[in-house]
Amino acid sequence: MEKTEWRRKRVVLVPYPFQGHITPLLQLGSVLRSHGFSITVLQTNFNSLDPSDHPYFTFLTLPDGLEGYDFYFNNILMMTSVMNANCKAPFEEHMSRMLEEEDGGEVACIIYDSLMKFVDIVAPKLKVPTIVFRVNPAAFTHSLVILSEFLQQKLIPLPESSDLDVMVPEAYPLRYKDFLLPVTQEIPEPVVEFIQTYTNVQSNAAVIWNSVESLDHWPLQQLLQRWSIPSFPVGPLHKSAKLLQTSLIEEDNACLSWLDRQSPNSVLFVSLGSLSVMDEEELINMAWGIAKSEQPFLWVLHPNLLNGSDPIKTLPQEFKEMTRKRGYMVKWAPQKKVLEHSAIGGFLTHCGWNSILEVLCEGVPLICRPSFGDHMVISRYITQEWKVGIEVEVKTEDGYERAVRTLMASEEGKMMKQRAVKLKQEIEQSINGGTSHESIACLVEFIISLTVGRK
Ligand code: UDP
Repeated sequence: MEKTEWRRKRVVLVPYPFQGHITPLLQLGSVLRSHGFSITVLQTNFNSLDPSDHPYFTFLTLPDGLEGYDFYFNNILMMTSVMNANCKAPFEEHMSRMLEEEDGGEVACIIYDSLMKFVDIVAPKLKVPTIVFRVNPAAFTHSLVILSEFLQQKLIPLPESSDLDVMVPEAYPLRYKDFLLPVTQEIPEPVVEFIQTYTNVQSNAAVIWNSVESLDHWPLQQLLQRWSIPSFPVGPLHKSAKLLQTSLIEEDNACLSWLDRQSPNSVLFVSLGSLSVMDEEELINMAWGIAKSEQPFLWVLHPNLLNGSDPIKTLPQEFKEMTRKRGYMVKWAPQKKVLEHSAIGGFLTHCGWNSILEVLCEGVPLICRPSFGDHMVISRYITQEWKVGIEVEVKTEDGYERAVRTLMASEEGKMMKQRAVKLKQEIEQSINGGTSHESIACLVEFIISLTVGRK
């Protein structure tokens, strides 16, 4: 097809409205725009971005009915289901209008976050092809596929006495305890349904991963064999996309000047992402562990971390005085810029996939403190496959102190740093002409070939 014929084709994006989901899908939008597509983002009222920060995208609103809901961690599932129920009708209206419009470009496809399930109900009705976008590594989706197969074979629940430290041969290098849910317990029916829906991509024309072929090779192959739809590992998108302002919380840039005054590779960056929570006891253990390690640190303590009370105010005064000269605390950091800073020598993380892609691109080794969702799977890959990090023992301050000292001041830490630098080079190759670069090119061709009216 002539370039001018498809240049104005429109790609519709439907992000799930949380930080770790909005950012990579918008980054994908930026990459596709640079290849000539026009981009329309359908966003909920909840956690909506300011369109004036993204003048090259068209934004339309999906009324989500979430007014009056307070956001906190235990409320996410409920909010997701309310959102899915309320967004379906306005989504259909927007899509029908777009399909009739002359200007704005012919709709090529919808690329959506798999948690926005209403897309999958409306799009087939309108005969618009859909591509599902995964913000997790394929290793996580593959672990759910295995879990789903175990459920079908009635292998789960395992007996109470089972050793959950045992490796699962079908999901190497995961252990039974790394699955999303405790496998010795009966899994509730709605959760079983969720797993089945999440792992079923029959209605989709393709799947896009914000992942790198070399990091995720085996799970990607396994899923390709099962699914037989095109699969595009195009990550890490934050490196291919134009820098976008997608932060939902104001970033505290003053910490960058503080980092400028620290020695190279000396600072531990501590950040548990936007959704992870902990109790006060662990916060105090973490604080004293970091303090006793005597390493400089930059610590993100966002207001939701303790599920209510302010974490910075909760920290003991004695801790603050003891670490005043070598510690810096913020509510939210410009994380990508922080991780790129030469002063950063280690990252204590919850293992959110965006954070992991960001840090792997900078060759910085890790301490893993997984929380929920895909974190256990990712932590396992970090520690067992790529060997660029260690998992922390969270129950004691000694556990934290040991982990920080090992990472920042030991031979083992140096080896992890060396491997992290090698991994960074591999990822750079994938973006500069390697697998991710090729995947983006193939994805562009694939979208051009799609036609509304047939899948
Ligand atoms: N982030 C940030 N500043 C912070 C902490 C996090 O900008 O102080 C960004 C981080 O760079 C990443 C995103 O928030 O892009 C978090 O996504 P991730 O998948 O790591 O975790 P989630 O928040 O979804 O649990």
